[in-house]
Amino acid sequence: MDSGKPQMLLVMTGSWGRGGGRSPFPRLFVTNEHYALLYRLTRRGVPVRMQLRVENKFTRGPVTVYNTVGEIRGSEKPEEIVICGAHLDSWDLATGTVDNGTGSMVVLEAARLIKALGLKPKRTIRFVLFSGEEQGLHGSREYVNQHKDEMSKVSAVFVHDTGTGKIEGIGLHGNKQVQPILEKELEILKELGVTRYNDRLMGGTDHASFYASGVPGFWFMQDPADYFLSHHTQSDTFDKAFKDDLIQGATVMAICAYNVAQLPQMLPRRSTTTTPTSP
Ligand SMILES: [Zn+2]
Repeated sequence: MDSGKPQMLLVMTGSWGRGGGRSPFPRLFVTNEHYALLYRLTRRGVPVRMQLRVENKFTRGPVTVYNTVGEIRGSEKPEEIVICGAHLDSWDLATGTVDNGTGSMVVLEAARLIKALGLKPKRTIRFVLFSGEEQGLHGSREYVNQHKDEMSKVSAVFVHDTGTGKIEGIGLHGNKQVQPILEKELEILKELGVTRYNDRLMGGTDHASFYASGVPGFWFMQDPADYFLSHHTQSDTFDKAFKDDLIQGATVMAICAYNVAQLPQMLPRRSTTTTPTSP
């Protein structure tokens, strides 16, 4: 398969049981440059012989992974919850900075900010670093599954998972009914450059796991920076993290979580259900 990335970057993705997991053939990515050469040769009918050096190894599944959870307990309605999330798992080619070390650090820093300011949120703010996201949102799906009884008490979920770029908007993921409330309660975010709302369903990251249970789950619309270049490649390294954008991201996440935790009511649920689509 074509890695689809420039400058000889490789890519990895996939999971058991999805996208070839049940195929009798392993799927291998080659660089775009090599793929393009093979394509040109075969189009001209030139016979091609490939020699592959594969260093992968097979691991028997299933593999146990763990979510990491912490919380600041609510002072008035501790049983009602606002969740800040990101996923801690990544791919092996690099150290996983933009996918999703940056989001994980934004969640930790949001927790630190709220704590350091001595704020006592009315509702519980829970910080969750999901795992198994890359192979199919396993950590967040299982979280929803194991906390079924609690879901009616989760007011909102905010997820940071598009790399280092600063937050420019809030993706409502089909929860149009909350827009007037968030616009009013999060007015201050305009000063940080967060000006857009989008109702579109955005699958492929952990907020989507909460959709079926009716919990309003939001994704942050971020400046893409080099996200789509680096993610899942050997180029996803620490130098791709932009400090100022991440400080903005953590500040935005902390404000979202705290202000929603302080509202007189939980955020309203949407009335109808539709099926999320992948981006
Ligand atoms: Zn991710």
